[in-house]
This record gives sequence, C-alpha cells and structure tokens, in this order.
Amino acid sequence: MIMQTQHLNMAAVDNHSAELLVILVPAGQTGFPSQAYPPSLETLIEHYKKMGDWHSESKYLLCINPPEFKALRILLVNTNLDIVKADAKRISNVVTDVLEQLNQAKADIVMPPSLPGGELLIQALFHASYKFSDYKTKTSRREEISVALLVSDDSLDESLDYARALHNGMSRTRDLANMPGNLCTPGYFAECALALDEQFATISTDVLDEAQLTELGMGAYLAVGRGSVHPGCMPVIRYVGAEPEEPAIWVIGKGVTFDSGGITLKKPPGMQSMIYDMCGGASVIGLMAAVAELKLPVNVTGVIATAENMPDGDAFRPGDILTTMSGQTVEIISTDAEGRLVLCDAITYAKQHQPALIIDVATLTGAQIVSLGSHASGLMGNSPQLNQALQQAGDESGDRAWTMPVWPDYQDALDSPFADMRNAGSQSPGMITAGCYLARFAGNTPWAHLDIAGTSFQYGTGNSATGRPLPLLLQFLRNYSNLSAPQWSINTDACGFLP
Ligand SMILES: [Zn+2]
Repeated sequence: MIMQTQHLNMAAVDNHSAELLVILVPAGQTGFPSQAYPPSLETLIEHYKKMGDWHSESKYLLCINPPEFKALRILLVNTNLDIVKADAKRISNVVTDVLEQLNQAKADIVMPPSLPGGELLIQALFHASYKFSDYKTKTSRREEISVALLVSDDSLDESLDYARALHNGMSRTRDLANMPGNLCTPGYFAECALALDEQFATISTDVLDEAQLTELGMGAYLAVGRGSVHPGCMPVIRYVGAEPEEPAIWVIGKGVTFDSGGITLKKPPGMQSMIYDMCGGASVIGLMAAVAELKLPVNVTGVIATAENMPDGDAFRPGDILTTMSGQTVEIISTDAEGRLVLCDAITYAKQHQPALIIDVATLTGAQIVSLGSHASGLMGNSPQLNQALQQAGDESGDRAWTMPVWPDYQDALDSPFADMRNAGSQSPGMITAGCYLARFAGNTPWAHLDIAGTSFQYGTGNSATGRPLPLLLQFLRNYSNLSAPQWSINTDACGFLP
C-alpha cells in the first residue's frame, strides 16, 4: 500500500476531487465533533438521515455523486470517537472492501485532527492491504491500493512513518512465513539476512556455517538439522543505531523451516502447517528491517536459529545425549521438541557477547495454543521488569502477551537420570516446561521468551501468517530507546534457573 498525507482545509473538503472520499462520522450523526466541515456535508448527511439510510446502527454508507461535492463518491464510515484496535480493523476492512467492490485502488481519507487511535487506524489500513504473492502461475494481480490521508496539520507524520516501517517489516515477516518449506530453507534465511546488509548501511550480517557452529560447540543446534539435506547455518544481523560500544539487545528467532518432528514424526493432519515453525526467525528479519527504516537509536542484534527438522539415517533420535554450547548435557526425549535445542545454543552464543538483554521468539509449543489461544503470546523470563515492559508494549501495540510463571517448582519435569536435563517433560505444562528449559541457558542475563505458536499464524489454514509479534517487539524497542538507563534485575527465585 502507498500511503501519504495531504494537507487540506477541512472547511473546503467539498472542493476536494477524489474517486472515493472517506469521511469518519459517528453513526447517525452529521459530523465529527469539533471538526469544521462545510455545511454541504451536514446537508448531505441530513438527507440520508431523513431517508433512513444513515442511522445509529449504520456501519457505513456509500453516497454516489454527492451534490455540491467534487468527489465522485463519499463513503461515510461509522466510527467511535476514541478508536480502539477493533474499530481500526473494522474501518480499514470497510474501506478496502468498498474499494474492491468499486474496482478502485485509491481512497482519500479525511483524518480528524487529534483523533485518538489515529495511529492504530493507519496501521490497520496497512495491515488490511497485505496480499501474499502466491505461486499460482495465473494470477490477477490487483493494482496496489493507494491512500491519501487528508490532514490539517503535521501531527500524524510520525505515526505514519512508524506505521509504514511496521507494515514493511510485517510484510517481510508474513511473506517469509507463508513460503513453503522447499523454498524457504536455512540457506534462504541466510540470503534474506545478507540482503538486509546490502539494503541498510546500519546493518551488517555474518552467516555462521556448520563448520563454525561445530567449532563453537553447538551440539544441540547442529543435531536438529542432521536429518535434512539443507545445511544449517546461523545468520547474525547487527544493527547499530546508538554508540557502537552500547550493549545490544539480542533478539533470537526460531527458524525451523519445516518441522516434521524428526524421528518423533508428527501425524499427517496439519503437518503442512509446520512451514510456519520459522515464524520467530521471520519476525527477526522483519524487525531488523523496521528498526533500520526507523533509524531507532538502539543497538539490536538479530539471530536466526535455523534448521530443518527431518527424519533420516543421520537424524538425531530419542535417547541421544547432546552436549550444548554451554557445556550442559541434554537427554533427548522427543526430537519434536527441537526448537529449544537450536535456541539454547543461540542464547549461549548471545550471552558471550555481553548483551543488554536477550529476547527469544519461537513457535515453541502446542501447549501455548491450548493455554492462550491466538489472543496472547506466552511470555516467560527471569526479570520481572523486563516481563512487565514487554507485556506493556504488547498492550500498547494491540499485540498482547501474557506472563506465565517459570517457578523453580516446574523445573523438576526436566530431571534426567542420565544427563543434566531432558528436552521435554511428561505430564507437565508444556509451555512452561519449555520456558524453564531455556531459563537454564539464559542464566543471570536478563532474558525473556515469547511463545508465539498460536499468535504468529492460524493453524490449519494457508497463507495465514499474521506478522506477530512484530508490533510488540517494535513497540518495546521504541519505548526502550526512550529510556535513559534501563535496568533489568534478575529474580532467580522466580525463574528457577540453575546457577
Ligand atoms: Zn517440533
């Protein structure tokens, strides 16, 4: 979507030429309070009120060839005075649906000054315009939608820049996540990470290959990809927006490009959804692009923990004992609990680079879907302040997360008779057990884990990537860049990590 602002004297909106002029009006009323619209608009709306077409329950009304207006069509859209996320979604869907119905590609939207929720509306308009460029050879590509936001001052400029960067980042994330496993491989992730390096002067990318990962001792990470013909790798993407010596925020995304379950093979129904097991990695690519586009004054390092999990003669198997980069050993109970194996070594790698904090993002457990569904990501971590800051960013951006406990009481589920721990519990709450596992690697570095299994895509449907949790992560970094000396204290009693 192309979106721009255009200055307009609202009292002369009847003199504005447009194919489709969108005006936000509370249902049944004749204008937006405190908005200096011309009398011709009130006359027009009064006319439709008398006809009974515009009333207190109206969702929208399309007025063709409105008299005294230069616009060819006016779309009245019912709005609340304070736009919340649900309103923003509804309004943007009405606008895009009407455009499609009219076979038009351009809308001019009158934005009332100081409209609460204006930023949410802009974000929703961008979101509604997303189309996945699929792989059908015969497509009828529609013209790209273009929106002019008619404004009376510059107060929306920052919101628009932010929404555009968020949308561009989310589109990259959704495109990547929707790609099938035969095309989106670990090597393709590496290409995307290197493309960011090409595109932005503030980004530099290194791709660690299998030999380098072996050298680092990443025994858990490398085991996951052993059954795949696609070699594993680990792209590390550095963005420098603050002083170079400032510690970076490390964001690690699980990028399992296809998760068959490995030797612990998944059941066929729904297995095609496992192309989405790389949504965490895809959100790291989108996040780094958005941060660089916004030139946020923070240092951020993105890591994609990527591999393909397949069954094969060389695949790792249940019962294997792996040595992680941290030196801790892990008994494999299920090769389908593989995300935590790539993540634990990536976390240890991040820890060695003195990060300000670590956030990992992963479609980690089906238990997250059972617990929180598609409404909130599962949030776990070792710093109450960091949990709180992330949960707040989720509330502010409409991309919610809910803090789950990782008390020491839950750690027993990971006891192994042979190794330091096992990679999965039995009869234990799976989302929390996975968080407890990762806590053992984060140790005393501020760390948070987002389980996005239910929020980043819709299980069982195609082209369903949502682009979450990019709104939350970008909002967190936006807030973080405004903090002078953020301190994230660790609560070892609460998270139960083993020193
Ligand atoms: Zn799995």
